[in-house]
Amino acid sequence: MEADVTMDKLVSLCKRRGFVFQSSEIYGGLSSAWDYGPLGFELKNRIQSFWWREMTQLHDNIVGLDASILMHPRVWEASGHVENFTDPLVDCKRCKLRFRADQIPEENLEKLECPKCGGQLTEPRNFNLMFKTHIGPVEDDGSAVVLRPETAQGIYINFRNVLQSSRQKIPFGIAQVGKVFRNEITTKNFTFRTCEFEQMEMQYFIHPSEDLKWFDFWKQTRIDYYEKLGIRSGKLRFHRHSADELAHYCRDAYDIQYEYPFGWQELEGIHNRTDYDLKRHSDYSGKDLSYLDEVSRERYIPYIIETSVGLTRTVLIVLLDAYDEEQVEGEKRVVLRLHPRLAPVTVGVFPLVKKDGLADMAREIAQSLKEEFTTFYDQGGAIGRRYRRQDEIGTPFCVTVDYQTKEDNTVTVRFRDSMEQTRIRVDELAACIDSGVKAYERVGQ
Ligand code: ATP
Repeated sequence: MEADVTMDKLVSLCKRRGFVFQSSEIYGGLSSAWDYGPLGFELKNRIQSFWWREMTQLHDNIVGLDASILMHPRVWEASGHVENFTDPLVDCKRCKLRFRADQIPEENLEKLECPKCGGQLTEPRNFNLMFKTHIGPVEDDGSAVVLRPETAQGIYINFRNVLQSSRQKIPFGIAQVGKVFRNEITTKNFTFRTCEFEQMEMQYFIHPSEDLKWFDFWKQTRIDYYEKLGIRSGKLRFHRHSADELAHYCRDAYDIQYEYPFGWQELEGIHNRTDYDLKRHSDYSGKDLSYLDEVSRERYIPYIIETSVGLTRTVLIVLLDAYDEEQVEGEKRVVLRLHPRLAPVTVGVFPLVKKDGLADMAREIAQSLKEEFTTFYDQGGAIGRRYRRQDEIGTPFCVTVDYQTKEDNTVTVRFRDSMEQTRIRVDELAACIDSGVKAYERVGQ
């Protein structure tokens, strides 16, 4: 049965096996910045590709974009970020720690008393979360730019370009994945909230009269996506923004929340942003961003339904959701029950022993599987140990070559979740793994 996953267990596995490392570790670490190691990078890439497939490839009317991180400063005036992208912060005058005013206990805020040392806090001040830098050699106001805090604005300002070049008609969407930066007060929850992270966003441009229909469509499509990703449905829920949470330009907004070890928190946001964004960019740029329906001859500013999720936060929930421990023959087995589509290694290939030509046969099989699957060859240690090492990184299939292979060209395939083993012919191996990936179903919701 599922054992409770804690953040400590996950952080330790991630470091031990090369999923995620603390940034700048050899210099004592940079707080809230993380590096993705060999396996973490693979996992992140697979999640990104899966999202891309689901959000563009499966829809004729959704196209991609890769906008730059640095944009004209007016973009952030038009978007409202210069004015509103702030957190209320309080500083402790004694211990110098800084807190988000909305994240400390209410009595501390009322008394302006530091929750760590009891010292006096400053009154809350609004602090803009955008990182500032300069373009070119002169550091003056004219050269100031910010690192984008979301990918969405790069999509809105290219609305006309995409519309004209791709001949899309409303409804249509533009999808983008990329790095964003927010100078946040971060909590200690590993990669949950970081100053630098990646977002996967899709902005869907629609006729204003169809907003309810498309909002419901994307809510449903996005929750279904997590099931395809192998996430247990019991760990996900919708949270509708109350009137005081709702951004002033949003008509309706839902978060998809995940139950992290530290409680239910946001994973993704789905927002009905109305015509706010294109109207603002029309006003600020002086360019007409309206749309002309060629059939009805109606001209209007499209509404936007946005789906926005953190890629790095998705990596975190995929790992948390997959982590499991169980007792097997008196020993603890740590297993990542990753969907085989996402597992960094799909097939482990082992010779039972190195000698008598078994290693060569196993290498040859591993090589032939490489065309289609990510494989890992391992000849070190007892076979049980080798299985455990693959379980811990979520490898769904292991293939073992033994003496019988020499006689009848069959191998053992061992399945990660059930630990069942079956004997099949080498020439059936690729098809067996392929159908195992496609037919995978997670047990236990
Ligand atoms: P919060 O209110 O928690 O700061 P937000 O509502 O501002 O977050 P959005 O701007 O809607 O978040 O961002 C969309 C998605 O980007 C979030 O659902 C989350 O998955 C991810 N995200 C936001 N901030 C961070 C962060 N600091 N680190 C990692 N991922 C983040």
